[in-house]
Amino acid sequence: MALPDDFLQELRLRNDITGVVSNYVHLTRRGRNLVGLCPFHGEKTASFTVYPQTESFYCFGCGVGGDVIGFIKRAENLDYIDAVKFLAQKAGMQMPENSYDDSMQKLRVRIFEANREAARFFYSQLSVPAGKKGLEYLHSRRLADKTIKMFGLGFAPDSWSALTDHLLEKGFKQSELIQANLSSRNKNGGLIDRFRNRVMFPIIDVRGNVVAFGGRIMTDEKPKYLNTSDTPVFKKSGNLFALNRAKNSKSDKLILCEGYMDVIALHQAGFDFAVATLGTALTQEQAVILKRYTNTVVICYDADEAGQKATSRAIDILRKEGLDIRVLTVPDGKDPDEFIKHHGDNGYIKFKQLLEATGNDLEYRISKLRRSYNIQTPDGRVKFMTDAAKLLSGVDNAIERSVYIGTLCMETGVDRKLFENEVSKNLRRRYKRQDEAEFKRIRQQLSGEDARLNFGEKKKVRAVRAEEALISYLILNPDMVRKVKEKLPPEKMVTEFNRQVYDILIQRIISGKSCTVTDLSSELGDDGDAKIAAMLANNISESNSLDACNDYVNIILDEGSKRSAEEIAMQSPEDIQAYMKELKEQKNKKR
Ligand SMILES: [Zn+2]
Repeated sequence: MALPDDFLQELRLRNDITGVVSNYVHLTRRGRNLVGLCPFHGEKTASFTVYPQTESFYCFGCGVGGDVIGFIKRAENLDYIDAVKFLAQKAGMQMPENSYDDSMQKLRVRIFEANREAARFFYSQLSVPAGKKGLEYLHSRRLADKTIKMFGLGFAPDSWSALTDHLLEKGFKQSELIQANLSSRNKNGGLIDRFRNRVMFPIIDVRGNVVAFGGRIMTDEKPKYLNTSDTPVFKKSGNLFALNRAKNSKSDKLILCEGYMDVIALHQAGFDFAVATLGTALTQEQAVILKRYTNTVVICYDADEAGQKATSRAIDILRKEGLDIRVLTVPDGKDPDEFIKHHGDNGYIKFKQLLEATGNDLEYRISKLRRSYNIQTPDGRVKFMTDAAKLLSGVDNAIERSVYIGTLCMETGVDRKLFENEVSKNLRRRYKRQDEAEFKRIRQQLSGEDARLNFGEKKKVRAVRAEEALISYLILNPDMVRKVKEKLPPEKMVTEFNRQVYDILIQRIISGKSCTVTDLSSELGDDGDAKIAAMLANNISESNSLDACNDYVNIILDEGSKRSAEEIAMQSPEDIQAYMKELKEQKNKKR
């Protein structure tokens, strides 16, 4: 996926990283650099840093880093090429034609087209005899024809290859259908449909592409829901059902449901801001996406035990992103779909009342505690208030804490002063634990033990540190490369990834090419940009002198020789003899 260097250079020039990032993050200057609250994880103190000098960014909190393209990739949820296109368009630049290997991009486009055609096919089946039972099922769930059309619902007929045959006839290749996970091979090597005899729910991304399908069986057979597996255009953990519609809602909230039917029922009833995860528990990635569109998430899961467990888990995940959380509990053990159906024409009003009466996540947790003890007995009250004190110590907002301390004391008759002390005690304990964790994190970072920063090369800490410092030095001082290379040829680098980076750096500089994060990461694989940005961020304040550079080289050479001695010591006598013979031959050649 190599784009021409001069194109990327121009793209970078016209999209200054500070300017681009400030559209998403409020940045303040700190020395040469700029800092702000990280848009990729929830935080209260700024650990997200932009380095104008190296045109890169790095977050010390979550380890995300890269160049301006990497930033847009994450901020706009695009792949590499689409991020480049996004920036090119912003700067009024033409994308170079056919200059890069775009086979993956082409496959993605084909998968989108196949999915769209499949969605049309499934929808059309509702109006033919083979799909009659599908339509009847949707009607039995009280979905109006308008709703069915709006969500593009459909039916996969009870046939081995109806969709596959249809798509092959439309000119799609077998390999494309397999990659799209619409078809699979049977034992005889023929293609069969993945979805058969199921009601179909297309999953549409925020840009309007059909990325996947969920299929529901209408009997008690298992699995009840079958979803598209991950494909080149779809990742289950990074998409939400109906977000394409909910993002346009006038509401400032999003309702998070468990199932497709709940979401559709809510939209039909007038709550156009409901979304659902795709048959899996909520992921951190999805929480980050939610945060892009709202500050308040209303969790509305099933009332059964599994649903309540999932609620507790979701609260933890959403809290991490700094979202306001409300928990809506549907009465009488119903799920939202059943509740709205049950109330018929009053569905909207009844659900709206529930929505307005939702407590925040703290109220939810307190009422859950209350249910687990009998607070009519002294013993139950003791246990309840002890746990409640722990719970309240997890709340950062002092006013919020004080309000709940007041209510709980009134409810149980416990002395306010006493209860306040208990909460404070727990709070101090929590802060101490946090400080300890923070201390540990910083120490690991300083000693280079952080797994993110040394890429699994834990045993070679000293060498890794020197290599990273040297690479950072050379990126900032490219004129020193020739000299350094003479003393330290690439094969002497101790760790694999750094050797690769160093090699690319030398090749590029010697042939007169630029060496920014963008240039380097386009030659390295996945996450290359984040690794380089991390390297720069951790070394930019290190000594930048020639002396320091010589030190780095010496440390690497020193560690390298130590290592080969160690490696030899660990091998068998035969191996060592062979190794010595090899050394002798090399010497003879040089003579
Ligand atoms: Zn971060």
